[in-house]
Amino acid sequence: MPYQPQESRYESMKFRRCGKSGLDLPMLSLGLWHNFGHSDDFRNARTILRTAFDLGITHFDLANNYGPPYGAAEENFGRIFEKDFKPLRDELLISSKAGWDMWPGPYGNFGSKKYLVASLDQSLRRMGLDYVDIFYHHRPDPATPLEETMAALDLIVRQGKALYVGISQYNAEDTARASKILKKLGTPCLIHQPRYSMMDRWVEDGLLDVLETEGIGAIAFSPLEQGVLTNKYLKGFPEDSRAVKDGRYLQTDKITPALLSTVEQLNELARKRGQSLAQMAIAWLLKDPRITSVLVGVSKAAQLNDNVNSLQALDFSEEELTKIEQLLRA
Ligand code: NDP
Repeated sequence: MPYQPQESRYESMKFRRCGKSGLDLPMLSLGLWHNFGHSDDFRNARTILRTAFDLGITHFDLANNYGPPYGAAEENFGRIFEKDFKPLRDELLISSKAGWDMWPGPYGNFGSKKYLVASLDQSLRRMGLDYVDIFYHHRPDPATPLEETMAALDLIVRQGKALYVGISQYNAEDTARASKILKKLGTPCLIHQPRYSMMDRWVEDGLLDVLETEGIGAIAFSPLEQGVLTNKYLKGFPEDSRAVKDGRYLQTDKITPALLSTVEQLNELARKRGQSLAQMAIAWLLKDPRITSVLVGVSKAAQLNDNVNSLQALDFSEEELTKIEQLLRA
Protein backbone atom coordinates (compact mmCIF):
# COMPACT_ATOMS: atom_id res chain seq x y z
CA MET A 1 0.00 0.00 0.00
CA PRO A 2 1.47 3.38 -0.92
CA TYR A 3 1.95 5.54 2.14
CA GLN A 4 -0.61 8.32 2.55
CA PRO A 5 0.53 10.64 5.35
CA GLN A 6 -2.07 11.88 7.82
CA GLU A 7 -3.57 15.15 6.67
CA SER A 8 -3.69 16.28 10.30
CA ARG A 9 0.05 15.82 10.81
CA TYR A 10 0.86 19.48 11.49
CA GLU A 11 -2.10 20.15 13.77
CA SER A 12 -0.66 18.98 17.07
CA MET A 13 3.12 19.13 16.56
CA LYS A 14 4.82 22.22 17.92
CA PHE A 15 7.91 23.70 16.29
CA ARG A 16 10.75 25.80 17.67
CA ARG A 17 13.17 28.06 15.82
CA CYS A 18 16.68 26.58 15.80
CA GLY A 19 18.98 29.22 17.32
CA LYS A 20 19.27 32.33 15.15
CA SER A 21 18.56 30.53 11.88
CA GLY A 22 15.64 30.35 9.50
CA LEU A 23 14.86 26.75 10.37
CA ASP A 24 12.12 25.37 12.64
CA LEU A 25 12.53 21.95 14.23
CA PRO A 26 9.71 19.83 15.62
CA MET A 27 9.98 19.87 19.42
CA LEU A 28 10.23 16.10 19.26
CA SER A 29 12.62 14.46 16.75
CA LEU A 30 13.29 10.79 16.01
CA GLY A 31 16.73 9.15 16.14
CA LEU A 32 17.65 5.95 14.27
CA TRP A 33 20.59 4.84 16.42
CA HIS A 34 18.79 1.67 17.53
CA ASN A 35 16.07 -0.49 15.93
CA PHE A 36 17.05 0.27 12.30
CA GLY A 37 19.91 -2.23 11.88
CA HIS A 38 19.94 -5.27 9.59
CA SER A 39 18.98 -7.60 12.46
CA ASP A 40 15.98 -5.44 13.37
CA ASP A 41 12.47 -5.92 12.01
CA PHE A 42 12.24 -3.89 8.79
CA ARG A 43 8.45 -3.66 8.94
CA ASN A 44 8.60 -2.30 12.47
CA ALA A 45 11.20 0.27 11.40
CA ARG A 46 8.95 1.36 8.54
CA THR A 47 5.94 1.65 10.85
CA ILE A 48 7.97 3.79 13.27
CA LEU A 49 8.97 6.23 10.53
CA ARG A 50 5.44 6.46 9.12
CA THR A 51 3.97 6.98 12.59
CA ALA A 52 6.54 9.66 13.35
CA PHE A 53 5.74 11.60 10.21
CA ASP A 54 2.00 11.21 10.78
CA LEU A 55 2.53 12.83 14.20
CA GLY A 56 4.31 15.82 12.66
CA ILE A 57 7.84 14.62 13.48
CA THR A 58 9.60 16.00 10.44
CA HIS A 59 13.15 15.41 11.67
CA PHE A 60 14.96 12.05 11.39
CA ASP A 61 18.46 11.85 12.84
CA LEU A 62 21.06 9.35 11.55
CA ALA A 63 24.83 8.84 11.54
CA ASN A 64 27.23 6.94 9.31
CA ASN A 65 27.79 4.20 11.89
CA TYR A 66 24.23 3.54 13.13
CA GLY A 67 23.29 -0.10 12.68
CA PRO A 68 24.50 -2.70 13.33
CA PRO A 69 26.43 -3.21 11.16
CA TYR A 70 27.75 0.30 10.55
CA GLY A 71 25.82 1.94 7.71
CA ALA A 72 22.77 -0.31 8.10
CA ALA A 73 20.45 2.34 9.56
CA GLU A 74 21.19 4.64 6.62
CA GLU A 75 20.63 1.76 4.18
CA ASN A 76 17.31 0.80 5.77
CA PHE A 77 16.27 4.42 5.98
CA GLY A 78 17.14 4.76 2.28
CA ARG A 79 14.91 1.78 1.40
CA ILE A 80 12.00 3.22 3.39
CA PHE A 81 12.61 6.70 2.01
CA GLU A 82 12.43 5.33 -1.53
CA LYS A 83 9.14 3.49 -0.81
CA ASP A 84 7.36 6.05 1.37
CA PHE A 85 8.96 9.45 1.65
CA LYS A 86 10.50 10.40 -1.69
CA PRO A 87 7.62 12.72 -2.71
CA LEU A 88 7.78 14.23 0.79
CA ARG A 89 11.48 15.12 0.72
CA ASP A 90 10.86 18.86 1.11
CA GLU A 91 8.80 18.26 4.27
CA LEU A 92 11.67 16.38 5.93
CA LEU A 93 14.82 17.31 7.81
CA ILE A 94 17.31 14.47 7.54
CA SER A 95 20.60 14.60 9.38
CA SER A 96 23.73 12.48 9.40
CA LYS A 97 27.09 12.62 11.12
CA ALA A 98 30.69 11.45 10.99
CA GLY A 99 33.33 11.49 13.70
CA TRP A 100 33.38 8.03 15.25
CA ASP A 101 35.11 4.98 13.75
CA MET A 102 33.57 3.97 10.45
CA TRP A 103 36.05 2.15 8.20
CA PRO A 104 39.55 0.74 8.73
CA GLY A 105 42.72 2.78 8.36
CA PRO A 106 43.56 6.36 9.25
CA TYR A 107 40.89 8.03 7.06
CA GLY A 108 37.74 6.49 8.57
CA ASN A 109 37.61 8.15 11.99
CA PHE A 110 37.80 11.48 13.90
CA GLY A 111 37.78 14.89 12.18
CA SER A 112 39.95 15.24 9.07
CA LYS A 113 38.58 16.82 5.90
CA LYS A 114 39.48 13.55 4.15
CA TYR A 115 37.18 11.55 6.47
CA LEU A 116 34.24 13.94 6.69
CA VAL A 117 33.90 14.55 2.95
CA ALA A 118 34.22 10.86 2.03
CA SER A 119 31.86 9.76 4.80
CA LEU A 120 29.08 12.12 3.77
CA ASP A 121 29.41 10.92 0.15
CA GLN A 122 28.93 7.36 1.42
CA SER A 123 25.97 8.36 3.61
CA LEU A 124 24.23 10.06 0.69
CA ARG A 125 24.68 6.92 -1.44
CA ARG A 126 23.32 4.66 1.31
CA MET A 127 20.26 6.85 1.86
CA GLY A 128 19.69 7.61 -1.82
CA LEU A 129 19.71 11.36 -1.15
CA ASP A 130 21.23 14.30 -3.04
CA TYR A 131 21.83 16.22 0.19
CA VAL A 132 21.23 16.04 3.93
CA ASP A 133 19.62 18.91 5.76
CA ILE A 134 22.10 18.85 8.64
CA PHE A 135 25.57 17.32 8.73
CA TYR A 136 27.33 17.02 12.08
CA HIS A 137 30.83 16.48 13.27
CA HIS A 138 29.92 13.69 15.69
CA ARG A 139 32.52 14.25 18.41
CA PRO A 140 35.53 16.50 19.04
CA ASP A 141 38.89 15.39 17.65
CA PRO A 142 41.77 16.59 19.85
CA ALA A 143 44.42 15.71 17.24
CA THR A 144 43.02 17.61 14.24
CA PRO A 145 43.06 21.42 14.06
CA LEU A 146 39.53 22.66 14.65
CA GLU A 147 40.07 24.96 11.65
CA GLU A 148 40.39 21.89 9.36
CA THR A 149 37.25 20.18 10.69
CA MET A 150 35.18 23.36 10.45
CA ALA A 151 36.55 24.07 6.95
CA ALA A 152 35.38 20.58 5.97
CA LEU A 153 31.85 21.40 7.21
CA ASP A 154 31.91 24.69 5.30
CA LEU A 155 33.12 22.91 2.15
CA ILE A 156 30.34 20.31 2.38
CA VAL A 157 27.72 23.08 2.46
CA ARG A 158 29.33 24.86 -0.48
CA GLN A 159 29.32 21.57 -2.39
CA GLY A 160 25.56 21.40 -1.82
CA LYS A 161 25.79 18.12 0.08
CA ALA A 162 24.36 19.61 3.30
CA LEU A 163 22.21 22.66 3.91
CA TYR A 164 23.32 23.28 7.49
CA VAL A 165 26.03 22.00 9.82
CA GLY A 166 26.21 21.09 13.48
CA ILE A 167 28.50 19.66 16.12
CA SER A 168 27.92 17.00 18.73
CA GLN A 169 29.47 16.27 22.11
CA TYR A 170 31.69 19.41 21.97
CA ASN A 171 32.30 21.09 25.35
CA ALA A 172 31.44 24.76 25.92
CA GLU A 173 34.92 26.07 25.14
CA ASP A 174 35.38 24.13 21.89
CA THR A 175 31.84 25.03 20.85
CA ALA A 176 32.59 28.73 21.20
CA ARG A 177 35.80 28.30 19.16
CA ALA A 178 34.08 26.20 16.49
CA SER A 179 31.26 28.73 16.21
CA LYS A 180 33.66 31.63 15.70
CA ILE A 181 35.56 29.74 12.96
CA LEU A 182 32.35 28.77 11.19
CA LYS A 183 30.98 32.33 11.33
CA LYS A 184 34.19 33.61 9.73
CA LEU A 185 33.87 31.02 6.98
CA GLY A 186 30.28 32.14 6.33
CA THR A 187 28.61 28.87 7.37
CA PRO A 188 27.24 29.47 10.89
CA CYS A 189 26.81 26.50 13.19
CA LEU A 190 23.09 25.68 13.17
CA ILE A 191 22.86 23.26 16.06
CA HIS A 192 24.63 21.39 18.82
CA GLN A 193 23.65 17.81 19.72
CA PRO A 194 24.60 17.08 23.34
CA ARG A 195 23.51 14.30 25.64
CA TYR A 196 21.01 15.87 28.04
CA SER A 197 18.45 14.40 30.41
CA MET A 198 17.22 14.88 33.96
CA MET A 199 19.99 12.51 34.99
CA ASP A 200 22.80 13.97 32.86
CA ARG A 201 23.01 17.73 33.36
CA TRP A 202 26.50 18.64 32.09
CA VAL A 203 25.16 21.08 29.47
CA GLU A 204 23.84 23.36 32.22
CA ASP A 205 27.43 24.12 33.24
CA GLY A 206 28.31 26.56 30.44
CA LEU A 207 27.32 24.92 27.16
CA LEU A 208 23.73 26.22 27.02
CA ASP A 209 24.98 29.75 27.72
CA VAL A 210 27.46 29.52 24.84
CA LEU A 211 24.74 28.25 22.51
CA GLU A 212 22.49 31.17 23.43
CA THR A 213 25.25 33.74 22.95
CA GLU A 214 26.31 32.25 19.62
CA GLY A 215 22.74 31.81 18.35
CA ILE A 216 23.06 28.02 18.03
CA GLY A 217 20.12 25.65 18.59
CA ALA A 218 20.26 22.53 20.78
CA ILE A 219 18.84 19.04 20.26
CA ALA A 220 19.11 16.77 23.32
CA PHE A 221 20.03 13.13 22.71
CA SER A 222 19.22 10.16 25.00
CA PRO A 223 16.62 12.27 26.84
CA LEU A 224 15.13 9.13 28.41
CA GLU A 225 18.52 7.71 29.40
CA GLN A 226 18.00 4.97 26.81
CA GLY A 227 14.74 3.91 28.47
CA VAL A 228 15.75 4.16 32.14
CA LEU A 229 13.68 7.36 32.54
CA THR A 230 10.44 5.54 31.76
CA ASN A 231 8.36 3.05 33.72
CA LYS A 232 9.87 0.18 31.68
CA TYR A 233 12.28 -1.23 34.29
CA LEU A 234 10.14 -0.73 37.39
CA LYS A 235 8.83 -4.28 37.37
CA GLY A 236 11.95 -6.12 36.23
CA PHE A 237 13.80 -6.39 32.93
CA PRO A 238 11.47 -6.91 29.96
CA GLU A 239 12.79 -9.33 27.31
CA ASP A 240 12.24 -6.80 24.54
CA SER A 241 13.99 -3.89 26.31
CA ARG A 242 17.24 -2.35 25.12
CA ALA A 243 19.09 -3.40 28.27
CA VAL A 244 18.19 -7.08 27.73
CA LYS A 245 18.14 -7.25 23.93
CA ASP A 246 21.21 -5.19 23.22
CA GLY A 247 23.76 -4.73 25.99
CA ARG A 248 26.15 -2.61 23.92
CA TYR A 249 25.36 0.79 25.43
CA LEU A 250 22.91 0.03 28.27
CA GLN A 251 23.71 -2.83 30.63
CA THR A 252 21.28 -4.36 33.11
CA ASP A 253 23.84 -4.11 35.95
CA LYS A 254 23.88 -0.29 35.54
CA ILE A 255 20.15 -0.19 36.34
CA THR A 256 20.61 -0.58 40.09
CA PRO A 257 17.96 -0.74 42.84
CA ALA A 258 19.06 2.76 44.00
CA LEU A 259 18.55 4.14 40.49
CA LEU A 260 15.18 2.42 40.21
CA SER A 261 14.09 3.89 43.53
CA THR A 262 14.66 7.40 42.09
CA VAL A 263 12.86 6.40 38.89
CA GLU A 264 9.93 5.06 40.93
CA GLN A 265 9.55 8.37 42.77
CA LEU A 266 9.84 10.38 39.55
CA ASN A 267 7.23 8.08 38.05
CA GLU A 268 4.89 8.87 40.95
CA LEU A 269 5.41 12.61 40.45
CA ALA A 270 4.70 12.22 36.71
CA ARG A 271 1.51 10.31 37.55
CA LYS A 272 0.36 13.20 39.75
CA ARG A 273 0.98 15.56 36.80
CA GLY A 274 -1.17 13.28 34.64
CA GLN A 275 1.82 12.23 32.54
CA SER A 276 3.88 9.11 31.95
CA LEU A 277 7.46 9.38 33.20
CA ALA A 278 8.71 9.48 29.58
CA GLN A 279 6.40 12.45 28.94
CA MET A 280 7.54 14.28 32.06
CA ALA A 281 11.24 13.68 31.24
CA ILE A 282 10.74 15.17 27.76
CA ALA A 283 8.66 18.12 29.00
CA TRP A 284 11.27 18.84 31.67
CA LEU A 285 13.92 19.35 28.96
CA LEU A 286 11.66 21.52 26.81
CA LYS A 287 10.89 23.91 29.70
CA ASP A 288 14.17 25.60 28.69
CA PRO A 289 13.53 27.54 25.46
CA ARG A 290 17.17 27.02 24.45
CA ILE A 291 16.33 23.35 23.83
CA THR A 292 15.05 23.41 20.27
CA SER A 293 14.12 19.74 20.10
CA VAL A 294 14.29 16.54 22.11
CA LEU A 295 15.71 13.60 20.16
CA VAL A 296 14.12 10.32 21.24
CA GLY A 297 14.60 6.77 20.10
CA VAL A 298 11.76 4.24 20.07
CA SER A 299 11.52 0.49 19.60
CA LYS A 300 7.76 0.59 18.91
CA ALA A 301 5.48 3.10 17.25
CA ALA A 302 3.26 3.22 20.38
CA GLN A 303 6.15 4.80 22.32
CA LEU A 304 6.07 7.70 19.87
CA ASN A 305 2.40 8.36 20.60
CA ASP A 306 3.24 8.40 24.28
CA ASN A 307 6.22 10.72 23.81
CA VAL A 308 4.49 13.19 21.55
CA ASN A 309 1.79 13.73 24.15
CA SER A 310 4.45 15.29 26.40
CA LEU A 311 3.94 18.47 24.37
CA GLN A 312 0.44 18.86 25.86
CA ALA A 313 1.82 19.66 29.35
CA LEU A 314 5.11 21.55 29.23
CA ASP A 315 4.65 23.75 32.30
CA PHE A 316 5.99 22.84 35.74
CA SER A 317 5.08 24.45 39.06
CA GLU A 318 7.91 25.66 41.33
CA GLU A 319 6.93 22.91 43.73
CA GLU A 320 7.27 20.22 41.08
CA LEU A 321 10.66 21.53 39.97
CA THR A 322 11.93 21.59 43.55
CA LYS A 323 10.67 18.07 44.15
CA ILE A 324 12.41 16.82 41.00
CA GLU A 325 15.70 18.41 42.11
CA GLN A 326 15.36 16.77 45.53
CA LEU A 327 14.71 13.35 44.01
CA LEU A 328 17.62 13.64 41.58
CA ARG A 329 20.00 14.74 44.35
CA ALA A 330 19.00 11.99 46.78
P1 NDP B 1 16.22 7.72 24.48
O1 NDP B 1 16.84 8.17 25.75
O2 NDP B 1 14.96 8.35 24.00
O3 NDP B 1 16.01 6.12 24.59
C1 NDP B 1 15.26 5.43 23.67
C2 NDP B 1 14.70 4.17 24.28
O4 NDP B 1 13.83 4.51 25.35
C3 NDP B 1 13.84 3.38 23.31
O5 NDP B 1 14.61 2.50 22.51
C4 NDP B 1 12.92 2.64 24.23
O6 NDP B 1 13.60 1.55 24.83
C5 NDP B 1 12.71 3.64 25.35
N1 NDP B 1 11.50 4.44 25.17
C6 NDP B 1 11.29 5.49 24.34
N2 NDP B 1 10.07 6.00 24.52
C7 NDP B 1 9.48 5.24 25.48
C8 NDP B 1 8.21 5.26 26.09
N3 NDP B 1 7.32 6.19 25.77
N4 NDP B 1 7.95 4.32 27.03
C9 NDP B 1 8.84 3.39 27.37
N5 NDP B 1 10.06 3.32 26.82
C10 NDP B 1 10.38 4.23 25.88
O7 NDP B 1 17.20 7.95 23.28
P2 NDP B 1 18.39 7.13 22.54
O8 NDP B 1 19.43 6.75 23.51
O9 NDP B 1 17.78 6.09 21.68
O10 NDP B 1 18.94 8.30 21.63
C11 NDP B 1 18.05 8.98 20.75
C12 NDP B 1 18.77 9.43 19.53
O11 NDP B 1 19.81 10.35 19.88
C13 NDP B 1 19.51 8.34 18.76
O12 NDP B 1 18.65 7.57 17.96
C14 NDP B 1 20.47 9.16 17.95
O13 NDP B 1 19.80 9.72 16.84
C15 NDP B 1 20.86 10.26 18.93
N6 NDP B 1 22.13 9.97 19.62
C16 NDP B 1 23.19 10.78 19.34
C17 NDP B 1 24.41 10.56 19.91
C18 NDP B 1 25.53 11.49 19.59
O14 NDP B 1 26.68 11.19 19.94
N7 NDP B 1 25.28 12.58 18.93
C19 NDP B 1 24.65 9.43 20.83
C20 NDP B 1 23.45 8.66 21.11
C21 NDP B 1 22.24 8.95 20.53
P3 NDP B 1 13.35 0.00 24.46
O15 NDP B 1 14.18 -0.20 23.24
O16 NDP B 1 13.86 -0.69 25.67
O17 NDP B 1 11.87 -0.15 24.22
